[in-house]
Amino acid sequence: MKDTYTIAVVHGDGIGPEVARAAVAVLQAGVQAGTLRFVDYPAGADHFLKTGDSFPAASFEGCRTADAILHGAAGIPGVVHPDGTEAGLDFTLTLRFKLDLFANVRPIKLYKGVPSPLGRPGPIDYVIVRENSEGLYAARGAGALLREEVAVDTLVQTRKGVERIVRFAFELARTRNGSPKDGRRRVTCCDKANVLRTYAFFRAVFDEVAKEYPDIEAEHVLVDAMTVHLVNKPTHFDVIVTENMFGDIISDLGAATVGGMGMAPSEEVGDGIGFFQASHGSAPDIAGKGLANPYGTILASILMLRRLDQRHRDSRLKLGADRIEAAVCAGLEDPALRTRDIGGVAPTNQVVDALLKRL
Ligand code: ATP
Ligand code: MG
Repeated sequence: MKDTYTIAVVHGDGIGPEVARAAVAVLQAGVQAGTLRFVDYPAGADHFLKTGDSFPAASFEGCRTADAILHGAAGIPGVVHPDGTEAGLDFTLTLRFKLDLFANVRPIKLYKGVPSPLGRPGPIDYVIVRENSEGLYAARGAGALLREEVAVDTLVQTRKGVERIVRFAFELARTRNGSPKDGRRRVTCCDKANVLRTYAFFRAVFDEVAKEYPDIEAEHVLVDAMTVHLVNKPTHFDVIVTENMFGDIISDLGAATVGGMGMAPSEEVGDGIGFFQASHGSAPDIAGKGLANPYGTILASILMLRRLDQRHRDSRLKLGADRIEAAVCAGLEDPALRTRDIGGVAPTNQVVDALLKRL
């Protein structure tokens, strides 16, 4: 337990500042005063346009030494570094690799009151654990393009990388209530082991690690079948563990089933610090219009409190997380407090003001 936890806040681009401000306000109202200290740091495409630097060294240092990092969203389409990489990506990728944030945790939960395109699918409440440090995306920028004729990227899986993400998934399953359908604790390995050697390796390491967790059911689902199951029987799942690119794809699919990108929080975590944001990008099409759904980032800040509590055993953090989650549930049940993307009409400010009043 610490007296005060320092939260590095990076607002970013597009709707980033709108949703980050909302989350900070809710944290300030929901957590006992003095528990959290917020420090803003600039980074992102907008900062790059102003200064030529998308992630200043001082911002990195502030993030690295904080207890957690809370982020809005980064990126403006077309704003790129001289080498062609997107300016908005610099921030997330630097944190991910320098701090070795190997696990990307993406809860998919359908809250009461939020319309699902699946109609009435029953209770959806599972977590996608996306490997965040290798897989196909580890090749980013290092692929080969030969004479504009042939392009090659390489999918890399290491034993160390697969073991640690699979173990992370099983440990997570131990802290949860199991599948909403049958209450069984279950980790599902999502792969393409029937076609590619890398995924067969992922599965083999998964099976080895699964033996250490006899109390938790272990199963395999091929990624193509997974896209069907996440639509047809989403209540079956508890924890899903998968390679980087597959995790990217199925977590957007999962988000769509529970109200869309505005309802999906994301945590990137390693052995130390965690980095929290909504799964969505900077949504430049709706920036500055008051249409941004702040719930995803607020849900991410609840994940942040729970992670800090797990590390530091501090009841102020747990109490804050419980209070904010109760306010979010109540807000989502009220048709007047839903943003346009989840079937309502409320502007961002109105949602945030109501949550603050409740807290
Ligand atoms: P990235 O490459 O960073 O993942 P993206 O191109 O996938 O970004 P997003 O910014 O995630 O795109 O969003 C896609 C669309 O979804 C947006 O253009 C916007 O219309 C909608 N959207 C995303 N986030 C929200 C939100 N919080 N509230 C309302 N609508 C959103
Ligand atoms: Mg996206």
